[in-house]
Amino acid sequence: MKERQEMKHRIAVIDYDKCSPKKCGNFLCIQVCPVNRQGKECIVKNEDAQKPVINEELCIGCGICPHKCPFGAISIVNLSSELRQPLHQFGKNAFRIYRLPFPKENSVLGLLGKNATGKTTVVKILSGTIIPNLGEYETSPEDYAAAIEHFKGMELQSLFKKLDAGKISLSYKPQNIDRIPLHFKGKVEELLKKVDENSNLEKTAEELEITEILSHSIDKISGGELQRVAIAAAVLKDAEIYFFDEPTSYLDVRQRLRVAQMIRTLAQKSAVIVVEHDLAVLDYLSDYINILYGKPAVYGVVSGPKSVKNGINEFLDGYLKDENVRFRSTELKFEANPPSTSAKKKVFMEYPALEKSFESFSLKSEPGKLNQAEVLGVLGPNAIGKTTFVKMFAGVLQPDNIKLDFKYKVAYKPQYLKADENLTVGELFGKNTDMQLFKTEVDRRLDIKKMFDSELTNLSGGELQKVSVALTLCKESDIILLDEPSAFIDVEDRLRVADAIKSVTNLKNKVTLVVDHDILFQDYVSDRLIVFEGTPAKNGTAAKPMEMEEGMNKFLKGMGITFRRDPATGRPRANKKDSVKDKDQKQANKYFYV
Ligand code: ADP
Ligand code: SF4
Ligand code: SF4
Repeated sequence: MKERQEMKHRIAVIDYDKCSPKKCGNFLCIQVCPVNRQGKECIVKNEDAQKPVINEELCIGCGICPHKCPFGAISIVNLSSELRQPLHQFGKNAFRIYRLPFPKENSVLGLLGKNATGKTTVVKILSGTIIPNLGEYETSPEDYAAAIEHFKGMELQSLFKKLDAGKISLSYKPQNIDRIPLHFKGKVEELLKKVDENSNLEKTAEELEITEILSHSIDKISGGELQRVAIAAAVLKDAEIYFFDEPTSYLDVRQRLRVAQMIRTLAQKSAVIVVEHDLAVLDYLSDYINILYGKPAVYGVVSGPKSVKNGINEFLDGYLKDENVRFRSTELKFEANPPSTSAKKKVFMEYPALEKSFESFSLKSEPGKLNQAEVLGVLGPNAIGKTTFVKMFAGVLQPDNIKLDFKYKVAYKPQYLKADENLTVGELFGKNTDMQLFKTEVDRRLDIKKMFDSELTNLSGGELQKVSVALTLCKESDIILLDEPSAFIDVEDRLRVADAIKSVTNLKNKVTLVVDHDILFQDYVSDRLIVFEGTPAKNGTAAKPMEMEEGMNKFLKGMGITFRRDPATGRPRANKKDSVKDKDQKQANKYFYV
């Protein structure tokens, strides 16, 4: 069958944070553009002659300028004619988003996609923070007249009419909770009282386990606490539509499930939209899914609505059936880890039962052994003694019950990352880092080198996380400890991060401990598991390293949740509580299928 000739049009996007005309040899792109050479003005300097601007109508898509720009600042993309009019464009040569999802009453809509494909932009448009300009970026609209006209006869029109009239109540948990303390000074309770429209503060605080921190100052609480306070603030408001942009970062598995249940309850009276990269959580809490695809930081397209199962599976496949769109050339596979080879691995070290007490916290660990070339997944709540445990192997802390002479070199990535001022990514690498390993095992998966000239403070949360993981993997070390390497990273990059971890560990015979609360990520990355239990910030116990099935069973039994595997993709799916499968698996004592 002859393929239909499709009309394409071209978009050009410049990342002005990366562009530096002085460093590239004085507007290199302008010098190399063949259209300019013919005397036309395809790339020109902007009004103050500081940056280049590309005329998308004149550009012939030769691909020379994106290739020549030393900082990878230019993207030229051909789009199908169906995507001629964006719903919103941030400026000339800037990111644009096409189409919108529709939030249905009494349902949870999950948004799934790579970072920087526009999920937050979609949430901001639907929540009234951004008025869509339909591509007319030069005259920012002051009302919704154009959007109302654009969506004539469609379900979304009524939403924009309500937004225009200010007649809709919305509640929004932003992605970037770190900014909350900048806008609000005071105690947690004061913040929450302001939004407590139905006197539910006490009950909600209990459910989210923040009662004890109500009297604390907002700028003094941890990221995990701030996340739960932000969620409480969103839940306490009475709204027709609730938005949760990445609600699980910094939360442990139990807290994630509680939040998921709370969000599901909201859907009994309202519409809910959730952006989330933890697939187990997204699967558990959504009623349907819209996928965002496109080119990160260049353009994003919203797919039509899909069932949760199909939506997640199509996202992993990289192919949208209804739209007949392939948006990734390879599928993402969540296959079960092959059966463990730990019995055949060389022992790296054996350790005795360990005990360590501080003023208000104590840790006990069973004796165990760690193998060479092994990734150990660590499961358990925050503040349960995971870092204390590893510090004893580094000789930084001595146990109370026995004298150890371990002096292993530990490379450590903490849970909370700080971007130092005035430092570029490239400046972090080099010293005590194995640049050969970086090149062959890490950079080709995580694409860090292209960020070398970027200042750390200009990175997004996901980029900073990838840089920190890459750096830790390449540091001189015997043991690597990664605390929450999946935070702020999208699903695709989570798998790449996991591959980089596995490959460095195997190639360099390291012992790598990965603390993470994303069950799918742990299933994918770990050879064996260490399960921590106890009361956070009071006492913790560490079990000996266990094979995956035994470890997952122990951990999930403690949580009261069972997982099955999706037959098509092999990804673990949480069973709905008290479903037939849930009951059967609990009875058979099979909380997780390996
Ligand atoms: P996601 O939520 O999927 O990670 P976002 O909606 O945050 O994606 O961002 C999509 C793109 O839009 C990014 O490249 C981002 O830098 C860009 N962007 C977001 N807000 C603005 C803005 N106010 N001006 C210009 N570009 C923006
Ligand atoms: Fe130079 Fe690249 Fe900026 Fe063009 S986009 S001026 S080539 S840095
Ligand atoms: Fe010029 Fe377009 Fe070619 Fe860039 S891709 S050099 S803007 S014609």
